[in-house]
Amino acid sequence: MRLLLVEDDNTLRAQLHRALGLAGYAVDQADNGRDALFLGDTEAYDAVILDLGLPALDGLSVLKHWREHNRRHPVLILTARDSWSEKVAGIDAGADDYLTKPFHTEELLARIRALLRRATGQASPVLRCGALTLDTRTGRVALNDQAVSLTSHEYKVLAYLMHRPDAVVSRSELTEHIYAQDFDRDSNTIEVFVGRLRKKLPPQTIQTVRGLGYRLTAP
Ligand code: CA
Repeated sequence: MRLLLVEDDNTLRAQLHRALGLAGYAVDQADNGRDALFLGDTEAYDAVILDLGLPALDGLSVLKHWREHNRRHPVLILTARDSWSEKVAGIDAGADDYLTKPFHTEELLARIRALLRRATGQASPVLRCGALTLDTRTGRVALNDQAVSLTSHEYKVLAYLMHRPDAVVSRSELTEHIYAQDFDRDSNTIEVFVGRLRKKLPPQTIQTVRGLGYRLTAP
């Protein structure tokens, strides 16, 4: 799952970027509203963390622009303490959730997990596909309760597919959602990751839909 992190406080942004990366997300960053607006318009994000107080263009304007242009990615806004009117304005502009500064990184991670669940129609933080489970809180993948060891790219591919069971996901869609923008992308490597995943999962868990992509199905 790929996120956009928009925050102009360099220390906080670096800290969140690191925590989100460790949690298994591909993360793009912006430190001002203008870059954020452009990235949200042109890249595919599963969720966006948007500080409201930003240079160049404020977060509320960025959010309004996205929603007016039908960008549907879930948005969690970061607001200043004691600013209830900012929260109201943010939610009315199309934010899906908010956090008031200062906050604990764990709470941000939990709220992002919840946004991703809601956006993909999942009810539980533990995603299931037959005997295969992926715990989005810990990043643990298991098959019949036995841990399956995955590389970070294999995990990203599987997490994306497990958020969308039975949907056909194209290679280009996977490429867009497992790499951050600055990563040297190559959609052929998706095949490599899927090939490695298949060796670790029951046969037919990841099906190839000819000409269209992949589909995760309980065997
Ligand atoms: Ca700020």
